[in-house]
Amino acid sequence: MREKAALVGSVRQLKKRTALAVSVVEALEVRYGFSRIIARFEPMDELISCILSQHTSDSSSFPAFTHLRATYPDWQQVVDAGPTQLADVIRKAGLANQKAKSIIACLNAIYERVGEYSLEFLRSMPTLEARKWLMELPGVGPKTASIVLCFSMGRETIPVDTHIYRVSWRIGIIPDDIGEVKAHDYLMAVVPPELAFRYHIDLIQHGRVVCKAPLPDCSNCPIVDRCQWYKKDGPAKRKAELSKARTQNRKSVKRVTKDRSAGINP
Ligand code: SF4
Repeated sequence: MREKAALVGSVRQLKKRTALAVSVVEALEVRYGFSRIIARFEPMDELISCILSQHTSDSSSFPAFTHLRATYPDWQQVVDAGPTQLADVIRKAGLANQKAKSIIACLNAIYERVGEYSLEFLRSMPTLEARKWLMELPGVGPKTASIVLCFSMGRETIPVDTHIYRVSWRIGIIPDDIGEVKAHDYLMAVVPPELAFRYHIDLIQHGRVVCKAPLPDCSNCPIVDRCQWYKKDGPAKRKAELSKARTQNRKSVKRVTKDRSAGINP
């Protein structure tokens, strides 16, 4: 409790933000339904599929992962194939050359540290220790480590993507300038462990459907009464900014067109 309070600022702040997070999950579940973890893959598969999914959509990375596993049923075969051949197999996932090198570096590091290609031993390690272990692997940051622990082992980590980060700071659960990396620890301190997965799923859904990046649909939001950004007139200010940017854009297009017709190169 003391450690968590130190991270958030004070015990009062911690309790306030935890209560807010709990009420947000409850309200969003009325809208989006209740979610529970169903393990997708075993930990090694989850890790490699997660590296493949970086900077691309699931619809591109999942077929690439299926193809990779069909081509190389054994992780040693992936290492033996080398980066060039592996890149050909995972081409669909994008950034294939870079990802092939990351996957092989990661597999080598696991083998060096564990003596086999397996992460099963992490199941008996405390969550934060397991996350730290994973983050010491090449190319594995807090988001990837949290995904592996959450989706393959049902741990209480909260992988922070762009939706979770944006919605969390808009509501007032995390500070707006904390950054995605630190937000992982902050959310783990604030959100009760038993709600971590539900928080993750609910906020992604809300960020995709209602609390969108350019302009949120606050009139259709079930948590509008507890949103700090809404209370501070954030959406209205954002709307004014977008409208100003559009007007300036129109003016500069007009000016360029006018200059071109007058023979002036911009
Ligand atoms: S009130 Fe608006 S900004 Fe706040 S969470 Fe809802 S949609 Fe997002």
